[in-house]
Amino acid sequence: MSLISAVNISKHYQVGGSLVRAVSDVSFEIETGEFVAVIGRSGSGKSTLMSLLGLLETPDSGHYRLKGLEVAKLDRNRRAALRCREIGFVFQMSSLLPRSSALENVELSLAYAGVRRAERRRRARDALDRVGLSHRLDHWPYQLSGGEQQRVAIARAIVNEPALILADEPTGAVDSRTADGIMSLFEHLNGDDRTIIVVTHAADVARRTRRIITLNDGYLIADERVGPALPSTVAAPIGRVA
Ligand code: ADP
Ligand code: MG
Repeated sequence: MSLISAVNISKHYQVGGSLVRAVSDVSFEIETGEFVAVIGRSGSGKSTLMSLLGLLETPDSGHYRLKGLEVAKLDRNRRAALRCREIGFVFQMSSLLPRSSALENVELSLAYAGVRRAERRRRARDALDRVGLSHRLDHWPYQLSGGEQQRVAIARAIVNEPALILADEPTGAVDSRTADGIMSLFEHLNGDDRTIIVVTHAADVARRTRRIITLNDGYLIADERVGPALPSTVAAPIGRVA
């Protein structure tokens, strides 16, 4: 069973009198442990596809299965529970709470999952350690660099040990060296059999993954395997990234 199975999924929006075909007839399967880039011009449907894969939206037609579950058949609550348990999101801009420390920001996603305080704290520290930020636990977002803020966001996405990480242009707002560090971190996390899907429009970012799916006007126009990342970058110690 594939982790993700999308069969002819479409999402169209009615805006005023016209129909926007954001995602049209897209099909693919993604196995556990894959590292995938989704590329395409602005407006090609990348974010909409991520919302569908991340259970934030349901397709108008087609079938989307996550871990074999037909998502459209689940009610709202079960869908939210599945999202909370299986999916971690990372967005382009830091979506951290400005008046909470790095540690509190990461802890918060466990509070939603009903984890008790002492356990939350322990797991949040561990997640921040894994992204190389154990020395920044009490910093507020404005006291962190853009790359560090993204790493807090990644810690928040992994703290629940989700099967799937969805990152929508996570390197879009940082310089290329910082982007490199963020990709090294994803490579490292992917090594633990975590499935990662990264939206990007930077070719050098996409080349660091193992598979590139290209969208154009909502259609999937290419789905290619690419070579493995360089071993030297995979092995880079996490503490030194970004
Ligand atoms: P990308 O992330 O590749 O830039 P999007 O998925 O954001 O593309 O958008 C794809 C198309 O769908 C665009 O034309 C966009 O304007 C439209 N779109 C996206 N979300 C909505 C929405 N909630 N309502 C109406 N149109 C939308
Ligand atoms: Mg987008």
